[in-house]
Amino acid sequence: MIVFCAFRLKSDKRYINKKYSIYAAILLIYSICCLTIQPFNRVIFAFSAHIEDLKDIDRFSKIQTPIKGIQTKSKEKETYVFVIGESVDRKHMEIYGYNRPTTPHFEKIRDKLFVFKNVTTAHVFTSGAVKSMLLIKNNTNQIWSLVQFFKSAGFKTFWFSNQGKVDNFDNSVMRFGRSCNEYAFIHGKDVIYSSENYNLTFEDEQRRLKLWDENLLKYFEKALSDSSEKKLIILHLKGSHPPIDMRYPPEFAKFSMPKQYYNEKKSLAVCYFDNSILYTDHILNEVIKGLEKCGETSAMLYLSDHGQDINDTEECILTARTWPDGYEVPFVIWVSEKYRKINTAFIKGWNTNLKYVTDKTAYSLIDLARLSHPDIDLSNSIFSRK
Ligand SMILES: [Zn+2]
Repeated sequence: MIVFCAFRLKSDKRYINKKYSIYAAILLIYSICCLTIQPFNRVIFAFSAHIEDLKDIDRFSKIQTPIKGIQTKSKEKETYVFVIGESVDRKHMEIYGYNRPTTPHFEKIRDKLFVFKNVTTAHVFTSGAVKSMLLIKNNTNQIWSLVQFFKSAGFKTFWFSNQGKVDNFDNSVMRFGRSCNEYAFIHGKDVIYSSENYNLTFEDEQRRLKLWDENLLKYFEKALSDSSEKKLIILHLKGSHPPIDMRYPPEFAKFSMPKQYYNEKKSLAVCYFDNSILYTDHILNEVIKGLEKCGETSAMLYLSDHGQDINDTEECILTARTWPDGYEVPFVIWVSEKYRKINTAFIKGWNTNLKYVTDKTAYSLIDLARLSHPDIDLSNSIFSRK
């Protein structure tokens, strides 16, 4: 299989460039080394996923052409924020019924939120999950991207990510980000940014280098102050990705030792995980506060790319590949007062118990922004399904 993949990579002219050839060679050597310590199917899975990612980079770079015929219901100044979380087991969120106060800010505004209870991801690895959320298949089987759609509808688009390159290599999610009007990838020593506008300096550079998600907020505030009438801002968090204890500043280490667990190592992992959820709740609260301050028509969608098996069982293996913990994800909407007033009838139809898969998220975001197109089936939106 590995040889077959390598052959495919080599035989396809699109991928014969130095960078990808070196990448494939490293992966091949790595895979062979891993065979001695990893189950064969996991190595094959990882290698195939990387090959697919390389193909997608090529594909996504071609779907930038403007889309004609988009209809919009709103003439208002408006901002939509899409926050992509990372590795969150929603059962550890207080707002989803967890018995620890891990989402205190969400709790305070519970009656202003729409907490969808039955949402699952289609993929349990980041690039697969995020890609699937950002693609639209129109009625003539053409693939459009979410960024392409919003840009075509007159939105200025922003992408700020606390994730980024895989080592020194481009990846398909990053390609989505780079297709936005403005972007910054801040995970790492060197920030990759779209323009001098987003070459931001930090008073506390040491804090930025801790790679916490709060570093994204500075970019978010800058985008909020942009004078464009219509904006789509995408924030890609590092969330609860292992090593989990590195994901939050010391002041968020609220949960130290839990009640009763199977062993100390596991109990610590649960504490770290709960602290990371607490920190994400803080980040989301800052986003909502920023939107409230603007007083515009606005909405925020928060979801996680996939889940995580951090469950309180002896079988817990800290992976995203087990059912249901790896697949069940949080899906939470906040809307501004102005949005609520304008869209009262639309909101009334939302069913938070609906079963939904996140590979249709792009349709939901289009619907949330009250956009449509004759070639797009909005029954794929979580808000329009019955
Ligand atoms: Zn992920």
